[in-house]
Amino acid sequence: MHELSLIESVARLLKRSAAENGIKRITRVCLVVGKLTMALPEALQFAFETLKKDELFREAVLEIREEPVSCQCQQCQHSFTPEDFEFWCPSCGSPQVKITGGRELYIEFYEGE
Ligand SMILES: [Zn+2]
Repeated sequence: MHELSLIESVARLLKRSAAENGIKRITRVCLVVGKLTMALPEALQFAFETLKKDELFREAVLEIREEPVSCQCQQCQHSFTPEDFEFWCPSCGSPQVKITGGRELYIEFYEGE
């Protein structure tokens, strides 16, 4: 499962950061997830639950902020959010578009004590 390995790498980063900052319990994690990562928020939440056997994550709440896909037209520089994965420019009709957002997957912030 894709989401489980994503959450495992997030957990590794959090563990290292918590150890460096003397944090014993993480209470809140805000994760930014681009639509193009194809990670489902419900599946991420489910995967996150599996971390709770670890003391560090026992009381942690996962918040997910989904980032839409964004594109920029290489012809007219128009920026847009494609509907239904139709990757051509709604302004000039060009298929030459560059994906500028939607692949993000990072921890925006976390809180702990
Ligand atoms: Zn265009």
